[in-house]
Amino acid sequence: MTPPRCVLTLNSGSSSLKFAVYPIGASEPVLKGKAERIGLEGGLFQAVDAEGAQMAHEQRPLLDHAAALQRVLECARGAAQHSLVAVGHRVVRGGAEDADPQPVTPALLSRIRELIPYLPEHLPHQVAAIEAVERFDSSLTQVVCFDTAFHRTLPRIAQLYALPRDLLNDGILRYGFHGLSYEYVIGEFARLAGETAAHGRVVIAHLGNGCSMAAIRDGRSIDTTMGFTPTGGLMMSSRSGDLDPGVVVYLLEQKGFSAAELSDILNRRSGLAGVSGGSSDMRDLFAREATDPQAAEAIALFCYQARKFLGALAAVLGGLDALIFTAGIGENVPEIRRRICDGMGHLGLALDSRANDGNAPLISSKDASVSIRVIPTNEELMIARHTVSVISRMTR
Ligand code: ADP
Repeated sequence: MTPPRCVLTLNSGSSSLKFAVYPIGASEPVLKGKAERIGLEGGLFQAVDAEGAQMAHEQRPLLDHAAALQRVLECARGAAQHSLVAVGHRVVRGGAEDADPQPVTPALLSRIRELIPYLPEHLPHQVAAIEAVERFDSSLTQVVCFDTAFHRTLPRIAQLYALPRDLLNDGILRYGFHGLSYEYVIGEFARLAGETAAHGRVVIAHLGNGCSMAAIRDGRSIDTTMGFTPTGGLMMSSRSGDLDPGVVVYLLEQKGFSAAELSDILNRRSGLAGVSGGSSDMRDLFAREATDPQAAEAIALFCYQARKFLGALAAVLGGLDALIFTAGIGENVPEIRRRICDGMGHLGLALDSRANDGNAPLISSKDASVSIRVIPTNEELMIARHTVSVISRMTR
């Protein structure tokens, strides 16, 4: 019997690389895993098969993304009596003309490379992953899926910053991110609640290590909290979110921080980690909340900001029909959902506390006018679907 043809999905972060192997047409992976602490001490490579059985658990140095990727490819091939035909990458942003998922070509890769100065936290690793796959096996078709694509429907007014015209013309605009997650979640919402519901006024709160919220109407993104880079908007595990721009000028001019130090402060030492003075992990913060006022303040600020952005996005939508929570915190932490929804009765939000405590799919109370849902995100499956449709278009 010929082995099923498979695609490998890659989602590269600054020090991690998530991957999954999907047989074409399947919605469950036959293998998935993560390389963590790439380039740092304590590298970890893990993979599980379709049944959740451990295929790899290795504490080993992962010198750089290329080394991690080599291990991922070995593991994917080892698990695959399956033949790997394509690799799909999550790429944070493409050029002005690049929105839809598309095959990697030298021209596309050079357009993405040109954007590295705009997105130095994310793009270098993603470009490195594409280059490494090409080096290891040039017979694999590579497809890129842009995380900004879902937000290309943002009205011009939602894209603009109040900056000098020449800077706007240079492309300093709101692009928005987490697009693969939003696309998956709104598709699931349509599947679960029907097309009519998914065409209503919807806010999705993607609360993971990175956090953002999006206002969606008629299934299209009309505003979102992240902007020019994924550092903006709602505070995150270690990113600051929105700031008075004067803070940045002050830190540069008066405190003498270099651009690299500033980036480190805003991307790695702020957010929950910064305000708590310790952990960036919501689980740790809850464990310390009762005894540590800084941890308590970090959680309180997170929920306060989420409420404020929810109100702003509801204003943009002209009201709210559905609020959907997703990603690590959104899917797993009832107490955060409760604190965000508390006091939002004026928008029609009311939780069913038992359903919320149980992370049920529908957590709003029966008589509430806004449905509140928990929908687990699946960026990997979204990448796999896009990759399969690109390669099938190519072979048609
Ligand atoms: P990433 O953006 O890296 O994919 P995740 O979506 O996995 O991140 O979200 C990570 C965050 O979710 C962390 O703050 C983690 O503490 C939190 N989280 C995940 N599961 C739980 C849980 N069961 N209880 C509390 N917090 C959780």
